[in-house]
Amino acid sequence: MLTCRHWIGQLRRWSSTSSRALLTDQNYVELRLDGKEVAKPLKYPTVWLRDNCQCPECFHAFTRARKSHWEQGPLNVKAESVIYNEQSQKLEVQWEDRHKSSFALEWLKERDFSEETRNKYLHNVYKPLAQLWSKKEFQQVRNEFQYEDILQKDEVLKSWLEALAVQGFAILKQAPNDMNVVRHLANRIGYIKKTTYGDIFEVKSKPNAGNYAYKMVPLPLHTDMPYYEYKAGINILHTLVQSSSVGGANTLTDGFYIADQMRQLYPDYFNVLKSIPVNWYDIGHDGDAKQPFHSLWRAPVICLDVDNQITRINQNTTKRDSRFSVPLDQVQKWYEAYNKFLELASAEAVEFKTEAGDVFVFNNLRMLHGRTAYEDSTENKRHLVGAYVDWDIIYSKLRTLKFPNAQD
Ligand SMILES: [Zn+2]
Repeated sequence: MLTCRHWIGQLRRWSSTSSRALLTDQNYVELRLDGKEVAKPLKYPTVWLRDNCQCPECFHAFTRARKSHWEQGPLNVKAESVIYNEQSQKLEVQWEDRHKSSFALEWLKERDFSEETRNKYLHNVYKPLAQLWSKKEFQQVRNEFQYEDILQKDEVLKSWLEALAVQGFAILKQAPNDMNVVRHLANRIGYIKKTTYGDIFEVKSKPNAGNYAYKMVPLPLHTDMPYYEYKAGINILHTLVQSSSVGGANTLTDGFYIADQMRQLYPDYFNVLKSIPVNWYDIGHDGDAKQPFHSLWRAPVICLDVDNQITRINQNTTKRDSRFSVPLDQVQKWYEAYNKFLELASAEAVEFKTEAGDVFVFNNLRMLHGRTAYEDSTENKRHLVGAYVDWDIIYSKLRTLKFPNAQD
């Protein structure tokens, strides 16, 4: 057991080789590097170093699994001394309990706690940063890809998935007149998402339609499935037959942009929409499906993540329940805020009309989409086929394409 005085002495002593590694106090190791490579010293909590010891006793490299600290964290183990080994380029830590750890410089640099390194990882590896866009920026953010290229070329698949993550949508051209196009695309990414509407679903005017989308009337701006906790990540909509009538056009608004505008311009409304939960519902049965469904989910219109970033928009007027399970005094102010949201969303909506062979794909957590009214005739019946894929699957695929060696 080290006395307090002894401890301070140990802590303040630079390691012998080029005075590079230092226990700055009981809880941190500082690593100063020669040259211009790293301007600031790298700094690591000792508790984190011990937790992430890479020795075979603590870490099973092949499965990337931590073997240590299953029942309690490494809070009580103190570092006794540290040195930076110039030759092996490793930080070596001697612990009070006689355990030894060593960490490669490159490994440490990638895990540096500076804001710059953290953001680099979050935006390059974790998730690309979304580029929010207004109506007037639509042409600049509109990405098109050839359907066959997506299936054949990994580079194009990567660009497409990046466009979905960054701009929130993309249009694929020249898909064949085949009901399975959406299935092929979902399989190309990974796995299709099955829902109460099946694995693929058809959007066409149906007599006695069980869903408002299956009518010829206009469809207001909405996201699919606000009534699901595990709401579909992207919507893949293949146009097999487009309406030759005036309508049937797509409408689209970047919901993250609208939420961001509200945060900046109407902070009080923003706070209401991010905190008051709405009851979303979907009750019924879909055409041929035998199983009835009763889907309910309570969530605000604007959902934020732990970093206060906008992470999900819920909006579907046709799927908003008359049950509103909030205290009485929240109702009026919610409607006032919601009204502003609707106003901005429709003012920022773009309109375009897909052609037969187009596949319109968009982030369903972000984009509000809708449709103008149309008119079927006996020789022209608008016909779309859709499928969903979850973002867990998409991000995973994107990372395997961007970092093909990470799995080795
Ligand atoms: Zn170890």
